[in-house]
Amino acid sequence: MRPEILNPLFAETEALKGVGTALAKPLAKLGLTRGIDLLFHLPTGVVERRRIERLDPADAGRGVIVTLTATEYRGSSSPRGPFRVRAVDGEGNAVSLVYFGNASGWARKQFPLNEPRVVAGRLDLYGETLQIVHPDQVVPPEEAGEIVEREPVYPLSAGITSRRIAQLVAQALERVPALPEWIEPSLLSARGWPGFMEALEHAHGNPQDAKARERLAYDEVFANQLALMLVRASTRRRKGWALLGDGRLRAKLDLPYKPTGAQARAIAEIEGDMQQETPMLRLLQGDVGSGKTLVATMSLIAAVEAGAQGALLAPTEILARQHFATLQRQLSPLGLNVAILTGREKGRARESTLMGLADGSIHILVGTHAIFQEAVTYKELGLVVVDEQHRFGVAQRLMLAGKADRPPHMLVMTATPIPRTLTLAQYGEMDVSRLDEMPPGRQPIETKVIAIERMDEVVAGVGRHIAGGGQAYWVCPLVEESETGDDAAAEARAAALREMFGEKVGLVHGRMKGPEKDAVMAAFQRNEVAVLVATTVIEVGVDVPNAALIVIEGAERFGLAQLHQLRGRVGRGTAHSVCLLLRGSALSETSRARLALMRDTNDGFLIAEEDLRLRGGGEILGTRQSGEQGARLADAQQTAALIPTAHDDARLLTDRDGGLEAPRGQAARILLYLFERDAAVGLLRAG
Ligand code: ADP
Ligand code: MG
Repeated sequence: MRPEILNPLFAETEALKGVGTALAKPLAKLGLTRGIDLLFHLPTGVVERRRIERLDPADAGRGVIVTLTATEYRGSSSPRGPFRVRAVDGEGNAVSLVYFGNASGWARKQFPLNEPRVVAGRLDLYGETLQIVHPDQVVPPEEAGEIVEREPVYPLSAGITSRRIAQLVAQALERVPALPEWIEPSLLSARGWPGFMEALEHAHGNPQDAKARERLAYDEVFANQLALMLVRASTRRRKGWALLGDGRLRAKLDLPYKPTGAQARAIAEIEGDMQQETPMLRLLQGDVGSGKTLVATMSLIAAVEAGAQGALLAPTEILARQHFATLQRQLSPLGLNVAILTGREKGRARESTLMGLADGSIHILVGTHAIFQEAVTYKELGLVVVDEQHRFGVAQRLMLAGKADRPPHMLVMTATPIPRTLTLAQYGEMDVSRLDEMPPGRQPIETKVIAIERMDEVVAGVGRHIAGGGQAYWVCPLVEESETGDDAAAEARAAALREMFGEKVGLVHGRMKGPEKDAVMAAFQRNEVAVLVATTVIEVGVDVPNAALIVIEGAERFGLAQLHQLRGRVGRGTAHSVCLLLRGSALSETSRARLALMRDTNDGFLIAEEDLRLRGGGEILGTRQSGEQGARLADAQQTAALIPTAHDDARLLTDRDGGLEAPRGQAARILLYLFERDAAVGLLRAG
């Protein structure tokens, strides 16, 4: 339960003076439904205006406050054109006030002819004429006091002005109660940060105050880390399974290759964790193709050796089926019973799998993430491996751990190349193993950026590739306008390629029925399909080592992490692999730079770091923490800069006995509620 002292901040904006239904709507559009939302809605800049007596072209480009008298209205010949008010200063110098968007009625009312008005706005020089487009304010002289020389500029929606928001923010600020400090005093003084209240006031009143904004960003990052640390503490306080495999099954595993050093290290780290009664929380990070599946397999077998069951969760049906096929092939000879459970297993087959899990006759379950939403009873679930987890947020991880009487060990695997520091933002509660070494014999993938105009050559190249027995992926662009757009584009491309290559062309997309998808994927695995046209359904995990060519259409429309994942479908065998990025013709500078980066490096982490730099703040955290609110105050770059400190401090605070009971802990609790990490506190209560 949220502390009562915070209630005024969480009251609806409609409780504020002057907020009626007319204003509530645009506020809601901006996500500003409560006082706290207003406080965290920070201005993006500030306008400064100078009071002037006479209009002077030298002031063009500046904000001004000046008294003007309207002399004439000039409508436009076209209804969409601007409406102009000609006005003069005390000396008769003229300026044109320009209103777009059918505003003539409003302009006439604001600006009756031959009456003085005080005008605030930006003076511009248009050819020889001075003009002010959409004045910020126009008031009669007796209300001139309302106009201020300095004013923050807020992100807006139609129907509300920055001034209105500033007034509401002022009211919200008055309602902030006195709060204890949650930031460590020495850190606060070392960084020169103001207190929370002062930081809010400064961030709104003076948007250039970097210290104030930094403090608030830190508060957000710290709240997030604290929540993750509480998740960690609560999971680890519970008793899990101490699983010590004896190696008898792993010794029998028939591998066509030796594990890499990195794989061996990761396996050892996982075994070490699983031998403890404290539940494992471990992230396995490894670029695409680094061989995470083998690590998962070995860990699952170890769990079974110790008498427990294991589960492997995949984000897509295709990937679940692929893992199931691989595990069954490898593990049936060892006498292990592997089963699959997805939304598609129905009726008797499903019943029998559920029974096998409950009575322990099924050793390993492969499934989609969806199966964890429902009741599946295990005899003794000792290890859960979550593959390619970027669609699997903290909330789901928590739920997973919370289900059983004894939480299973948890291994989360990801190839999403995010910068190291940002890993902490998403997986701060986990220990990390890294596969920083590729299996031997890998050829670097050659990447080329090609203009879409050269499509014919690309198609001819694909033809030569498959004529020599090769296989290729052809990925179709994201179509944003409609949900079915992606699939339609893929269908059209497949049809065009079939005209060239006949039945050797297969197609998979999101809307196809499961069994249809399976059949196509299986045919591609067997090399009966040579060109697989696909949407991003093949983005993660799909492993067909013979495919050495991938064409990605509309490459500029994909995120870099996504392109890197897609490219990772090739370069899995020993053949020289090629990735062709087809681009449109009108590219922005940033798009060009991003594609060039893809061409120049195969290193996922480097790509992630550079992508962060090229895109600037904000975007990268879009996928974080499903079920929880995303970042509001800290952009990606700030997060990256602040997180190591926040992480260490949060860990310190929660690791100390009774962390949140101590005085600073009590303050930190309030912070968690402010940023709505209530679930973490609830968890703490629960035990
Ligand atoms: P990812 O980390 O992307 O999940 P996979 O587990 O799919 O990678 O492995 C990629 C490919 O590398 C697979 O074809 C797999 O069989 C192969 N592979 C994995 N480990 C090794 C190894 N130690 N030596 C050679 N090939 C390996
Ligand atoms: Mg994989």
